[in-house]
Amino acid sequence: MTLRPLHRINGATLAVLLAGIITFVACAADAPEGDALALEMRPVCEKCEASLTVDGDATICSYECTFCPTCATAMEHVCPNCGGDLVPRPKRQ
Ligand SMILES: [Zn+2]
Ligand SMILES: [Zn+2]
Repeated sequence: MTLRPLHRINGATLAVLLAGIITFVACAADAPEGDALALEMRPVCEKCEASLTVDGDATICSYECTFCPTCATAMEHVCPNCGGDLVPRPKRQ
């Protein structure tokens, strides 16, 4: 009789994958659809600490993780904190 530890590994791996997918979907579903809440206009890139102005280019995810366009491009517009999409932040005059 041989034990099959692989089954347990596969189950655990599947659980991790599912948790990742659920987190990703929850993050995407949380994206504001317009104008309900004012964005927190963070003044610096969370990665390189470049300063970001409210009327200049910046990118955010649905949790308002904020990055400069250079870092967003380098990360292929995927937030490293939550895995969500990084999109251009609306400018404030
Ligand atoms: Zn940056
Ligand atoms: Zn994020």
